[in-house]
Amino acid sequence: MLLYLHIPFCDSKCHYCAFNSYVDRFELREAYMKAAHRQLRHELEACNVGRGEIATVFIGGGTPSTVDAALYEPFFDTLAPYLDQNAEVTAEANPNSATKEWLAGMKGLGVGRVSFGVQSFFDDKLKLLGRAHRAKEAVDAVERAAAMGFSRLSLDLIYATMLDTPERVEKEVARALALPVEHLSAYELTIEEGTPFQTRPEVRKESVEQARVIETMTVDKGWRHYEISNFGRTPCRHNLGYWEYRPYLGIGSGAVGRVETKRYYPHRLPERYIEEPLHKEVEELDEEAMLQERLFLGLRSEVGVETFLLDDAMRRRCDLLVAEGKLLIEKGRYRNPDFLLADEIALFILG
Ligand code: SF4
Repeated sequence: MLLYLHIPFCDSKCHYCAFNSYVDRFELREAYMKAAHRQLRHELEACNVGRGEIATVFIGGGTPSTVDAALYEPFFDTLAPYLDQNAEVTAEANPNSATKEWLAGMKGLGVGRVSFGVQSFFDDKLKLLGRAHRAKEAVDAVERAAAMGFSRLSLDLIYATMLDTPERVEKEVARALALPVEHLSAYELTIEEGTPFQTRPEVRKESVEQARVIETMTVDKGWRHYEISNFGRTPCRHNLGYWEYRPYLGIGSGAVGRVETKRYYPHRLPERYIEEPLHKEVEELDEEAMLQERLFLGLRSEVGVETFLLDDAMRRRCDLLVAEGKLLIEKGRYRNPDFLLADEIALFILG
């Protein structure tokens, strides 16, 4: 079982961001963390989670480093007996709010992995994206965390903006790889509805070449390209768990959970969530929908798809792709050697 906790607060709103995050509700932090704690207690019981059964925890957002470590304490106290002894516990952080105090507090609670929202090492690009930090702050934050003993550090980069070229992306990745990180998530800029970038679509400059630069540089370093946007010496087990279609608890406003055939959605607005943290919209997933999800997720990653999940017609189409070298078959799974073609291949298999 995986567990995701959503923190819906941010210092400022980035121009590309469509995540459930708010810059004007900091006064809700305490009440919000109490509500999340209440939902956690409820889910653990309602989903019959046993001791040691939670393999990974991911605190995402929003910006988890906008909430004092002390406010996470009751949450972690309740969670402790349910965590596997080797559980991977990750918190996202932004360079401007990942202070020494915050990092030390989260480390004391059991966070062993920090994922920094860096996005770029160029100040002009950070400005274009509307980020709240500058490149030097990002470098300092990563180095600070490493000096404090965090051995599992990751950072996020965005590419395919109007300021990117393959040469600039190469410099960004080289800068990232020179830092004490063991993981990198690189996302192509997308233009989302309702964001400031929606009125400036020219900021996006799609580029497969840039994606290939990132892949080549990380793989040359001996890292695994284990999902379309993720590269690492050690994969993030939490993310891998999503692609393996493991069940997950979703705690917080705008979080999503899936246990067996039910996907659930707590209230999205923090105020509503604080009032009713146990409220959930529930979606029942049928077999066909789950198979499609497994196929899309599996082919975007090294997980692949188990052959026995597919019907005869799908397997025949897979075998055609295997004959053409576009799909591999290994240990009872079809695997995709080129994640950038994942969606096309999944649609072909579905017929
Ligand atoms: S820090 Fe992250 S969640 Fe917050 S506004 Fe920026 S992109 Fe969105």
